[in-house]
Amino acid sequence: MHDLVIRNGTVVDGTGQPRFDGDLAIDGAVITAVGDVSDRGRREIDAAGRLVTPGWVDIHTHYDGQVTWDPLLAPSSWHGVTTLVMGNCGVGFAPVRRGQEDFLIELMEGVEDIPGTALHDGITWHWESFPEYMDALAQMPRVLDVAAQVPHCALRAYVLGERAHDLDLQDDEIGEMARLTAEALRAGAVGFSTSRTILHRSRHGLVPGTHSKPEELLGIGSALGTAGHGVFEMVSDLQGQEPDLSWMREFCRRTGRVLTFALAQSPIQPHAWRETLGRIDELAATGLRIVPQVPCRPTGMLYGLQSSLHPFITHPTYRRDIAPLPHEERVAKLRTAEMRTRLLAEEPATENAIARALMTNWTHIFPLGDPPDYEPAPERSVAAAAARQGRRPEDVVYDWMLERDGRQFLFAPLANYVDGNFDALREMMLHPRTMLGLSDGGAHCGLICDASMPTFLLTHWVRDRRRGERLPLEQAVRLQTGNTAAVYGFTDRGTLEVGKKADLNVIDLDALRLHAPEMVFDLPAGGRRLVQHVDGYCATVVSGQVTFEDGEETGTRPGRLVRGRPLQ
Ligand SMILES: [Zn+2]
Repeated sequence: MHDLVIRNGTVVDGTGQPRFDGDLAIDGAVITAVGDVSDRGRREIDAAGRLVTPGWVDIHTHYDGQVTWDPLLAPSSWHGVTTLVMGNCGVGFAPVRRGQEDFLIELMEGVEDIPGTALHDGITWHWESFPEYMDALAQMPRVLDVAAQVPHCALRAYVLGERAHDLDLQDDEIGEMARLTAEALRAGAVGFSTSRTILHRSRHGLVPGTHSKPEELLGIGSALGTAGHGVFEMVSDLQGQEPDLSWMREFCRRTGRVLTFALAQSPIQPHAWRETLGRIDELAATGLRIVPQVPCRPTGMLYGLQSSLHPFITHPTYRRDIAPLPHEERVAKLRTAEMRTRLLAEEPATENAIARALMTNWTHIFPLGDPPDYEPAPERSVAAAAARQGRRPEDVVYDWMLERDGRQFLFAPLANYVDGNFDALREMMLHPRTMLGLSDGGAHCGLICDASMPTFLLTHWVRDRRRGERLPLEQAVRLQTGNTAAVYGFTDRGTLEVGKKADLNVIDLDALRLHAPEMVFDLPAGGRRLVQHVDGYCATVVSGQVTFEDGEETGTRPGRLVRGRPLQ
């Protein structure tokens, strides 16, 4: 008798090998048989006609705050994620000195658009050091496994205090950050992260460490080499080009550790990504492992009356007369001819050139719709619709935002959509040295909702894509499981093999359906966040226990803290 048997499923095991029909036996938290299972299970799940896959391993999230109060970690948990990595992009909440909590919250709020009031109300600071943060995480049960990285911003604030933003450091300060990183890695941190992009700002300006010099990064990075485990994660405007590449190469050479950074097709240099991948191939031939992280759809800004950005949000009349109103009143007022005339006569009033360009990038703003269309044809853009109708883009977009009772979202892909399709993205995803990432689960609550990326990988890339080639099922599953787990050294999971941890999804691929994103106000202090529901996950299993069944939470809390350690 086994504890649990998943019967008659189509097993896609995360290794990339062809799917096969079979059973899976689970005892305790471990897979004990794959193939034909003759013994009965104390509990059996009929998976006939369903896919059985490993649980998704999402290595790029920002649940660092939410993880301390919310055992559910939605929306990622709704989408079959069974292991997630936090502490990305340099921001997080440990180590922290008494009195610095607000500063770290402001950084998180600025960079990741998580409401500061929610973090304020939600987090109880039971820690100072990173190991104490890990212990606090370990004490709380939750639906899925979490792993944490050491955020550079927190480290700088801890060691440098008021000088957290300073460029020039003393040797002993770099040494102290390296020492604290080593301490965190010993406690099980799975990496170190930093931000080198001008897009990541708080009310204090660019986040600490944005322009850190190579000696600082190499100094801190040395801790990863000594520890023998951990990933160096980074987001940088240079995207793997010089001068970053020199110290990245040096980091890998000195430490033997993996470095990962966010790679995208940029509108400014639409072909740079391919050159970068070529250089990374060359380095790989010499044994250095740099793993560009790519998403499976463009980072999707969602413009709408409920979100943080849309074309009218900085118009003086909007700011004064509409923004302060509750949603229903906003919609009612915007529907009046008088308000329409006034707003269409105004211009965006912002000094922020990037925001202004994004808000009026009419060729790259589309109706998202329901079901959401994340690969819209160029002729669906605001610009194209306006040209067809002989109207101004502002006029068209004004109508669109009022659809669905003012809850329509417009999809504004940020990078990775230069050609108006996913062909470049597909090439990046299939490149042997990349890995899937950048769902940003838990973050960008007012503007982006990409935690559903693992689901999208199946609905769009495996099943629905019409505007280009799809992905083979086995390959897609491997990218979100075996591959991400391997890069992060999670050797106990990521594939459905005997001896591996029993983390898995039973999926009805035909019924798998993403709903339109919606804004909810359920964070602490009534904070808002975008979420996205899904149908088609029949069961999600973590450590042998069923956590979700047909979209309903079962109430079990098998999720644990994953502590990184050197491989044997
Ligand atoms: Zn991030």
